[in-house]
Amino acid sequence: MSQELYSIRMRAAQGGPHESGGRHISGAERIVLEEKIPVTLEKLFLRALKHGLGRPDFINIIIEFISPEKIQKVTSLPVYTIRCRDYLEGRKLARKVLELAGIERRLIERGFNYLLEGCFDCGTNMRGAILMDVNTGCRLEPDPNRGIRASRMDYAPNLEEILSRELEKLGLNNDHVREALCLATKVAHVPGIVAELCWSDDPGYTAGYVASANLGYVRFNYLKEKDSRRGGRIFFIDPTMGKPEEIIKILEQKPCIISKLGPIYSEMTFDEFRKRLKEH
Ligand code: AMP
Repeated sequence: MSQELYSIRMRAAQGGPHESGGRHISGAERIVLEEKIPVTLEKLFLRALKHGLGRPDFINIIIEFISPEKIQKVTSLPVYTIRCRDYLEGRKLARKVLELAGIERRLIERGFNYLLEGCFDCGTNMRGAILMDVNTGCRLEPDPNRGIRASRMDYAPNLEEILSRELEKLGLNNDHVREALCLATKVAHVPGIVAELCWSDDPGYTAGYVASANLGYVRFNYLKEKDSRRGGRIFFIDPTMGKPEEIIKILEQKPCIISKLGPIYSEMTFDEFRKRLKEH
């Protein structure tokens, strides 16, 4: 049986293709063995049709062979969930985690404001992430309405079942967590990335996270208001550690497979989280 891997990427929009001004509805991607292509295509197609943001009239799905020698293999970030009562507390604690990642307070504030503003032209969700310089606070995406898409990442086929089982024990076994952990792991491994902040645009999903190579994937069950359709991502980068063009190229193009799972912890307070970091 062929062990060759293929990247499958889906994007869906309403009001025409993204490049003609269509509103982004959803995007998802996998890296799978050849034999899994048909079932993956069906899943991604159904996923595009059934998104909480509405029914798309444009769906694009691409299948691409991946050369094995180009694949980077990494261990998934440790998963933490920090206890919070509501999204306001969640955002307060997320700011503290970003400070632990070494980002200045005023620049964290700027990052939050960028996320709350959404894309420049339409005032709605971007398809990709904002790229912010942690030294100047400037946005660095070539197209600020689209943002930068992290792409070509997935779990090794043999890990999926184990991951689902481990997440299940903590009630975290859903597409959002599995996919965000995968994306955050790839992003954190790119030289020059300092941290990431994200909350979903799915109106039914209030959780979000801060991630970084040193801290891990740090979840909050509440990082935005319930029923809100406003979501976004921001990658904080340090251009003295990696050229923005190089960072963008790796984020968008370098295939990355999670070949080993990091630890997954049950919910804890911020103080417990900080203590645990010190112990490591
Ligand atoms: P999601 O977590 O899929 O609900 O996405 C939340 C926000 O993150 C979206 O509104 C986009 O702005 C951004 N986003 C989604 N997928 C990606 C990706 N692959 N790379 C970069 N940003 C993304």
